[in-house]
Amino acid sequence: MTEHTHENHDHEHGEDCGHVAIKHDGHIDHAHDGHLHHTKADGTVEEHTLAVSGDNPADCTPDHSCEGHANDHVHGPDCGHTAIPHGDHTDYLVDGHLHHPHGDHCDDHGAVETA
Ligand SMILES: [Zn+2]
Ligand SMILES: [Zn+2]
Ligand SMILES: [Zn+2]
Ligand SMILES: [Zn+2]
Ligand SMILES: [Zn+2]
Ligand SMILES: [Zn+2]
Ligand SMILES: [Zn+2]
Repeated sequence: MTEHTHENHDHEHGEDCGHVAIKHDGHIDHAHDGHLHHTKADGTVEEHTLAVSGDNPADCTPDHSCEGHANDHVHGPDCGHTAIPHGDHTDYLVDGHLHHPHGDHCDDHGAVETA
């Protein structure tokens, strides 16, 4: 996990802040502009990344059927899905699981629990 803080973060994440809250390793993070933000007690905002693990593998799953969006949907910064950092790449949250755009399909990188 990177010990990285987000400088000049002028937004306070909270229950109704409008960002998707994700359960991560026993705490809550907020998805914000493609980052996963963890607000510490002193107000410092840390950058978190979901680890590649058994629950969230980074495998290619060409047979994954992309329910939750149209077949011709292209994930990207403005696609409407929440971007989540996972390992060394960015995934998109669709119906509670991570989609990784890969060629003509999406890889399924496992479920994440929203809070
Ligand atoms: Zn950040
Ligand atoms: Zn927020
Ligand atoms: Zn976290
Ligand atoms: Zn793939
Ligand atoms: Zn999308
Ligand atoms: Zn997808
Ligand atoms: Zn992924």
